[in-house]
Amino acid sequence: MNPDDALPLPACLSCGACCFSTASDYVRVTGADWSRLGASPDRWAVFSNHRAFMRMHDGHCAALRIEAGFPARFVCEIYERRPQVCRELGRGSAACEGEIVRKRATAQART
Ligand code: SF4
Ligand code: SF4
Repeated sequence: MNPDDALPLPACLSCGACCFSTASDYVRVTGADWSRLGASPDRWAVFSNHRAFMRMHDGHCAALRIEAGFPARFVCEIYERRPQVCRELGRGSAACEGEIVRKRATAQART
């Protein structure tokens, strides 16, 4: 078997698992991230105890747009400006696989 076949890895646009959480401090926004968010960073991020995080809405990051359909799509509305922590979660990494196992069913249930 081709090692690439071992995990049925979805495309990020059809997954979105790592953008889901019920925690308000899920996606850390650093100073550099805040600056990269552009003219209205507080549209996307919020301060809590002197630290900034992405706003969360309905169990997922507020920047995640869920498009119902066949297939459904999970679109990061700020993809080019997303925080560093999102950039570092590599598709196919152990962290990614863990997110899929834990949350993909939740993500799919939203479509
Ligand atoms: S969990 Fe992995 S495959 Fe799913 S959206 Fe995140 S990086 Fe992409
Ligand atoms: S900023 Fe984009 S990639 Fe990061 S959690 Fe939010 S929707 Fe997902």
